[in-house]
Amino acid sequence: MFLVPLFFPMDAVRLDQRFDTWYIIGMYMHATISTREELEHHLVLTEDERRWFEANGDSLPLLISTYYLSLMNPGDPDDPIRRQVVPSIREMDRIGLEQMDPLAEISHSVLPRLIHRYRNRVAFLVTDRCATYCRHCFRRRFTATECSHVSESELDAVAAYVHDHAEVREMLLTGGDPLTLSDERLMQVITTIRNARPDLVLRLCSRMPATFPQRITDDLIARLKPHTCSALYLMTQFNHPKEITRQSVQAVARFIDAGIPVMNQTVLLRGVNDDASVLEHLMNLLVANRVKPYYLFQGDLVSGTAHLRVPLEKGLELESVLRSRLSGLAMPQYAIDLPEGGGKVPLGRSYLEGKDESGTWMFRTVSGEPRNYPDPD
Ligand SMILES: *Cc1c(COP(=O)(O)O)cnc(C)c1O
Ligand code: SF4
Repeated sequence: MFLVPLFFPMDAVRLDQRFDTWYIIGMYMHATISTREELEHHLVLTEDERRWFEANGDSLPLLISTYYLSLMNPGDPDDPIRRQVVPSIREMDRIGLEQMDPLAEISHSVLPRLIHRYRNRVAFLVTDRCATYCRHCFRRRFTATECSHVSESELDAVAAYVHDHAEVREMLLTGGDPLTLSDERLMQVITTIRNARPDLVLRLCSRMPATFPQRITDDLIARLKPHTCSALYLMTQFNHPKEITRQSVQAVARFIDAGIPVMNQTVLLRGVNDDASVLEHLMNLLVANRVKPYYLFQGDLVSGTAHLRVPLEKGLELESVLRSRLSGLAMPQYAIDLPEGGGKVPLGRSYLEGKDESGTWMFRTVSGEPRNYPDPD
């Protein structure tokens, strides 16, 4: 285990105030690794990993919290934690139909940081920074670019937009990871939005409970709590049972105890969690810790992530096995975000087989037995 400072070093606090910027750099500078040399202190690079550093491409940079790195077995090149955060030359593979922006988020942006694809909900990209960069990141066109944090004028424009668009019922605060903002900046974002639209349901989307649970301080929770007068949800991303630790469980418990329900979105990843028993274990652990498994995502067609995507056929098979093993509470919705901005649609085996000659609906049970269901006359 690596020690992560839980105190705030004075110089770091000053840095945070001066630049009003990257919380993680300011406060936990020595708790992340971002260079090949630092990484090589912890593990021996594989050939594919070494070649990524040598290719020096312009893809998503390396950044791993020492906490997340500590979950890895450094001797195992196929470790599921490692595959999520240590880059490989395969990110340079270019596959037909893959794009930087497959979900057409840019064309659905109504403001530079505001995506309005579904009538009743919007996604607000408050920052491009994360505590740890996931190699499967689907928003690589934006993540860790020079967009940085939202400015005051951008924030005011977003607030004005939701004020004028009453059809918007929910807002996702996302990015990047909004918890890279300092507490002050995050509260400024939430307060400004809530002042414009007190009824708006907010979803705070953060992977930090999994990658940097130390960020979930008592102070942060105390500041969020007054904002739970309208619904505030935490949407997080746990992809593997190894990520469920004493620290991550405590981090989600702090949200839940403060009246902030926690939902989880798992990304289906080759060599990480493309196994029914691994997913079953993960979902059961989440439910046991009061976290509702919300989505299981098929990988988007983002450039540089092909080696981490699972064939759809395999995903459907996993969905069907999970359906037979998990409770309704533990079962996430398997879904795909369709290319060209088609939006999310649910995926899964259908148990409805159609109608017979007399117009009665025909079903299959989870174990495959036929059942009929007639409509009322
Ligand atoms: C995923 C997403 C949402 C939220 O969709 P839900 O199905 O309600 O979780 C909203 N806006 C954008 C742009 C999204 O990609
Ligand atoms: S935390 Fe989310 S936005 Fe950040 S790198 Fe991972 S998937 Fe991308």
